[in-house]
Amino acid sequence: MLSAGQRGTQTLLDYPGLVMEAPAEDQIRLLDVQALDTKLARLAHQRRTLPVLARLAELEQLIGEADRNRVITATRASDLAREVIKAETDVDQVRTRAARNQARVDAGTLTPKDTEAVVNELALLARRQDDLEEVQLALMEEHEAAQQEAAAAAATLEQLTAERTERLAERDRQLKDIEQQARSILADRAKAITGLDAGLVELYERLRKQRSGLGAAALRAKRCEGCRTELSPVDLAKAMAAPPNQIVRCEECSRILVRVAE
Ligand SMILES: [Zn+2]
Repeated sequence: MLSAGQRGTQTLLDYPGLVMEAPAEDQIRLLDVQALDTKLARLAHQRRTLPVLARLAELEQLIGEADRNRVITATRASDLAREVIKAETDVDQVRTRAARNQARVDAGTLTPKDTEAVVNELALLARRQDDLEEVQLALMEEHEAAQQEAAAAAATLEQLTAERTERLAERDRQLKDIEQQARSILADRAKAITGLDAGLVELYERLRKQRSGLGAAALRAKRCEGCRTELSPVDLAKAMAAPPNQIVRCEECSRILVRVAE
């Protein structure tokens, strides 16, 4: 008994128990089965490689990034909001203190020495207030920019999430469509294979697995349509001279070679 690894092209030709004969009309009908199997393989490939699947994978990544960015920008905006409030408080404190000092000076009850000290402090407070107001203004501008950035990040996330919803529906529609096509082809295949020589079908299935989905091919214009190789004159003569019910195999790819009317 051969192990799976040893079942190469050559060993397959002599595989024990494999039929060497099948009715000629069954061989011809096998090509219909092959055509349907090829369609099914194409659909399976289409299902795996739908462009919408690539876009969905991309969207997952983009949504992850957009969500992280939304959190970062929102946190920064709220941090700045707190800093703006703190800056306002600082300015208010200086303003209150200056107003109190001004009131003391205006009351005219201080000694000249105290008045001088308070007036000096007022000048300091005025400078301090200017500085603090500058800080406050800068923070307010920064906060506004951060808010805009956070809003933009939230909008991007929303947009991407909406696109994902649309794409998921699109994917489902496409998969359903492929599924319907596959079901219809499978029904045709069941009809096409009904009544075919069991040994021929077994050989075909075995070859189809080993030969990338193509187990049977027509012999047309001296060529094996499975591997596209042109048969040598000797092989061609041998194939054409073989009895109609003999299963001819391609010397090159070992697929079932079905002789069809040219
Ligand atoms: Zn071939």
